[in-house]
Amino acid sequence: MINFLKIVAKNRLAAFGGILLLIILTLSILAPILPLKEPNITNTADRFMVPFEGGHILGTDHLGRDLLSRLLWGTQLSLAVGFAAAFIAATFGSILGAIAGFYGQKTDNIIMRFIDMLMAFPYILLALAIVAALGPGLFNALIAVALVNIPFFARNIRGVTVTLANKEFIEAARLSGMSNLRILIVEIFPNLLPMIVIAMSTTVGWMILETAGLSFLGLGSQPPQADLGSMLGEARSALITNPHTSFVPGIMIFCIVIGINLFGDGVRDALDPRLKKGSLIRPLPQTIYEGGDTQPTPSTKLLSVQNLSTQFHVNQDVYQSSNDVSFEIQEGECLGLIGESGSGKSVTALSVTSLVASPPGVIKKGSVNYKNENLLALPYEKLRSIRGNKISYIFQDPLTTLHPLHTIGDQLLEALQAHDSKLSISESISKSKDLLKSVQIPNPDNVWDVYPHQLSGGMRQRVCIAMALINNPELIIADEPTTALDVTVQAQILNILNSLRKERKLSILFISHDFGVISQLCDRVIVMYAGSIVEEGPVKNIIQQAAHPYTSELIKCVPQLGNKEHALHSIPGNPPSLNQLPEGCAFANRCQYKQDQCLKGSVPVSSKDNRSYKCFYPVGGTA
Ligand code: SF4
Repeated sequence: MINFLKIVAKNRLAAFGGILLLIILTLSILAPILPLKEPNITNTADRFMVPFEGGHILGTDHLGRDLLSRLLWGTQLSLAVGFAAAFIAATFGSILGAIAGFYGQKTDNIIMRFIDMLMAFPYILLALAIVAALGPGLFNALIAVALVNIPFFARNIRGVTVTLANKEFIEAARLSGMSNLRILIVEIFPNLLPMIVIAMSTTVGWMILETAGLSFLGLGSQPPQADLGSMLGEARSALITNPHTSFVPGIMIFCIVIGINLFGDGVRDALDPRLKKGSLIRPLPQTIYEGGDTQPTPSTKLLSVQNLSTQFHVNQDVYQSSNDVSFEIQEGECLGLIGESGSGKSVTALSVTSLVASPPGVIKKGSVNYKNENLLALPYEKLRSIRGNKISYIFQDPLTTLHPLHTIGDQLLEALQAHDSKLSISESISKSKDLLKSVQIPNPDNVWDVYPHQLSGGMRQRVCIAMALINNPELIIADEPTTALDVTVQAQILNILNSLRKERKLSILFISHDFGVISQLCDRVIVMYAGSIVEEGPVKNIIQQAAHPYTSELIKCVPQLGNKEHALHSIPGNPPSLNQLPEGCAFANRCQYKQDQCLKGSVPVSSKDNRSYKCFYPVGGTA
C-alpha cells in the first residue's frame, strides 16, 4: 500500500488531484462536527449576503441560508451518491461484460443485445424516464444514474475480456484444470481491475454531474435537503444579480470532477504492472543521453561505436545493460552480435539509434559515430531522418512489428513516404512491389492487399525485410530476425539477407544467440556477456579456436545433426544480475579455467591477429 501511494505521489498531477479530493472529502465528512450554521434554517432578512458579510464566509442564498454549511453538507451527499452510483454501475456492468466476453456465443449475444437496447436510448432521457417512473428523490436518482451507466462498463469490459480470454495464460489455466469461474476470478479479474478503476474514475465525475443535473431539474434531492445540483438549480434565477450563489456550488463541482479524473489516471498507472513507476515510465521518442557534447572519434568505417554504456534505472537499482562497448562496422560487412538472453545485445543495438525505452533507460556515456556525427547527441528531428532511412531495423517478431489493422501495401507506402514525400503514389507502389519481389514474395499483387495476420511467419518477415530496405539504407540492424521461424524458413530468410547484402553493399549488424546462424551470414562476430564484449574477431577464426571460455561454451551449444556422441550442451550456472555485477570477471562463477586473479579488479582486453578477448587464461593458452 505504501509502495502504491509512493507511485501515485510521483505523478504530480495525480498527487494534486488526490490532495484536492482529500481536502474536499475531509471537509465534507467533518461537516457534522465543524462549527457550521444549520444548513436548512431560513432567515429572509439575511438573504443574498455576499461572502464574509454578517459572519457568513461564503454568503447566503435566496432564503438566507448559510452557503458554506449547505455546500459542505451538499458535497457530502453528492459525493456519496456519485460514488455509490459509480460503484453499482461498475460492479454490475463489469460482471455482465466479463461473463459475456469470457463465455461468448449465446451468453454474449443475450447479454450484449440487452445492453444494446439500453444504449439505444439517449442516456439522460433514459435517466429522466426512470426517475419519472420511480418518482423524484435522491435515491431514485442514484438508481437511474447507475442503471444508465451499466452499458458503458459492460461494453468496455467485454471488449477487454474477449482479448484476454484468447491469451495463452488462459489456455494454460484451462490445462491446469481450473474451473471457468476460478479462471474469471483469479486470471481475468486482476487484468480487468486497472481498466475498471480508470473507467470508474472517469464515470464518478459524470455521475456526480448527472445526479446534479437531475437535482437541478428538481428530480433528485428535494427541498430543503441540499446537494450540489439542487443548490445550482435554486441559484439559477439569481445568476446575474447574485452570481456567488451559483459560483459556490459550480466551483465545487469543477474541483471534484478535476480531482477525481487526475487522481483516477494516477491510480490506473499505479495499478498497471506494465507501468510500475506510474506515468513517469512512458518512454520518450529518443533515449536520454548523458554524454553531453562528446565528440565521436574520427573513423573511416560506416559506423563506429565507442565506449557505449547504457543503464536502466528501476527504483533504487541500476542495471548496467551495456558496459563500455566499442565496435566498428565497415561498408558491406555483416557483423554478428551474439550472447545469451540478457547479455545486452539488443540494448546495445537499440542504443545505436537511441531507441532504448527512456525512462528507465539512460545512455550514460559513449558515442556512435555515423558520418562524423554522434548519433546519440543529435536533435530528435535529425535522428528521425536517419532512423528507418539510412539505418533501419528488422525485429524478432514480425507479427508485433507490423500494424494489425493496415494492409501490407499501406504499411510499405507509409514507410517509404515517411522519408521520401517527392515520389508519386504510382512510383511508390511500383517500388514497393519490386521490393516484395526482391525478398522472394512470389505474388506481390496479392500480398499488397492482405493484412499481416493473413500471412505466414516467413512471409511476414520477408515483408519486414522489404520495409527495412525500402529507403535504401546503408545499415540494417537485424535483431534475431529468424528466431520465431522454423528452420526451413530461417534458412530462406538468411539466404535473402545474404544475397541482398551482396547486391546492395549493405552493412548488417546481426543479433543472435545461435553460433550456427552467425556462422552462415557474418564476417566478424562480437561475443557479449553481462553487458560487456568478451571476444571479437573473424567468425571463421573464432569458430576454429575460441579464446574466451564463454565463447567456447557457446560454440559447444550448437547441435550437430547425426552426431550421437555430441550430446546437447548447456552452460552450467546463470549469468550475474546486471544490477549486481561482481568484481573481476563476470563469467567467473561459470568458468572452468577460473583462478584467483580472475576475481579481482577488471580484466584487460588482449589483442592478437585481428582478434581481441577479455580473459586472463584463454582457452588453449593463447588465441
Ligand atoms: S578471466 Fe578467468 S574467469 Fe574469466 S573467463 Fe577468463 S579464465 Fe575464466
